[in-house]
Amino acid sequence: MEYYFSQDDALLKKEKKKARELRNSQWWKRKRSQGICYYCRGSFPPKTLTMDHIVPMARGGKSVKNNVVPCCKECNSKKKQLLPLEWTAYMETLSASPRE
Ligand SMILES: [Zn+2]
Repeated sequence: MEYYFSQDDALLKKEKKKARELRNSQWWKRKRSQGICYYCRGSFPPKTLTMDHIVPMARGGKSVKNNVVPCCKECNSKKKQLLPLEWTAYMETLSASPRE
């Protein structure tokens, strides 16, 4: 058990390091400068957007471009507070709202 735990721990550390590198990349800076939250599609000052992992690192998500998105403070705190199921339901209410 201890072996697996330390394996996970090492992996998580590796992903966190990759996340830091990604956060410093031109790719991320360009993406964030659009000022659009991936989840609610709202526009925000780029500096207020944080980097979010769609699949959290703690659940095996990788720090790769297709798992990393700009996220506003509100969505970020909701994502932390809500259970995965509640978060999915929240996402559905967002996509169900009319877009005109
Ligand atoms: Zn948002």
